[in-house]
This record gives sequence, structure tokens and C-alpha cells, in this order.
Amino acid sequence: MASHLYRDTAVVLRTYKLGEADRIVVLLTEHHGKVRAVAKGVRKTMSKFGARLEPMSHVRLLLSQGRELDIVSQADSVETLAPLMVDLDHITNGMAVLEAAEQIALEREPSPQLYRMVVGALHTVAERSGPLVVPAFYWKMLAAEGVRPELDECVRCGEPGPLIAFDMDQGGALCRACRTGASLSDDALEVMRMILGGRLNEALDLPASRTTHEVAHHATRAIEHHIERRLRTVAMFESH
Ligand SMILES: [Zn+2]
Repeated sequence: MASHLYRDTAVVLRTYKLGEADRIVVLLTEHHGKVRAVAKGVRKTMSKFGARLEPMSHVRLLLSQGRELDIVSQADSVETLAPLMVDLDHITNGMAVLEAAEQIALEREPSPQLYRMVVGALHTVAERSGPLVVPAFYWKMLAAEGVRPELDECVRCGEPGPLIAFDMDQGGALCRACRTGASLSDDALEVMRMILGGRLNEALDLPASRTTHEVAHHATRAIEHHIERRLRTVAMFESH
């Protein structure tokens, strides 16, 4: 039986060793969702793939479909994002983007929007630092997943304000009477509105402060909440 070949563009999310010379690469592809593939001989010095299959690499691939793992037949660099990340902050931010993407992406379920967001986020990470680079990506990714938090009125009763608490179980910000979850400051609310309301660059320029720390905290909790729920949903589908 001839193996099925396909081409796609991908970001390498993660790699791990397989045997003496091979490597498994976890890819976020543009058109085939998350794909696990074997890159044969990649750990030999004369590998035809060179350093093109490292985390954060943006590559054009020829893959052949396998029963469990696909096989990388060709890999050409679209651009190298990793070498731009010269200091630890950039690398840490880049790894955080990859990790969230790996957890959100579903195996072989195409999500070109997620792919584009991750490529965009890696460019942002390479070009700038700042306390909100990764949290802003989390919020944008959640919004793209259809779980954009309500920030304009109390998510339970519709009261326009003051909004003093934030709870992703409820779906956003809450007034005093309805409050659950974590407390929410006016400044953090304003920054979250910036990020989700088309003023992203303004938010990314903010220096580290108690407010950016709070926004980062809410973003991390929100993404964890979403990933847990998604994992449960996937497990439910798989058990039937
Ligand atoms: Zn309320």
C-alpha cells in the first residue's frame, strides 16, 4: 500500500528522542491540526534536516501518513524564529506560547486560526519583551476558542459596574452582589479591555507593575481552566 504524502506548514512545538538517532516532533500544522511525526536520523550530525526541527522552528514539510505517527520526508525552513530569541526572557515566553498551543490544539483537527495566532505570537515574542506578551496571547487564544470573557458588564446580572471580581467559571467579570472567584482591580479590568478590545500594542508597552501581574494571573488561571475543561471533554468523547 502506497503511503499517503501531504504537504503542510508547521511550527515545531516540542521534540523528544526516539531510539538512537530519531526524534519525534510535535507539530502545529496549518491544515492538519496537531501532528506527531518521526524525523529519522535527525540526531546524526549529517542529518538532512539539520537544525530545522527544533522547538519554535517554522517549517514547510512533506509528510507521509503513518498509522500512529507520520514520517517527515522533507523539511525546509520558512523562517527561524528561535535564533532571534537571544535572551532567557524571550525563550521563556516562546516556550510558554508553544506549551499553551500544544495543550489547546487537537490531534489532526485543523485550526488554521490557532496556527496563525501562534506564528504571530512567536513573532511578537521575538521582537519584544514585556510582562504581558504571553498573557495577551492567552486572552487572544481564549477569545478565538470562543471563551472570550465578559468585561463590559456583570456576567451574571448585567449590571454595568462597578465590576470587582473575575471568575472564568462564570465567564468573566462580576459586580459586588454577584461576586465569586478572584478580586479584580479597576486597572487590571482596563488592561484586559485593552488586550481584547483592539488596543493590544498599548497593553504590550506597559512596564511590569502590580496591575500587569494581576492580569497575568487571571490569564494563567483562565487558560488552565479552559484546558482542564477541554481535556475532560476530549476524554468524554474518547470513552464513548
Ligand atoms: Zn452582578
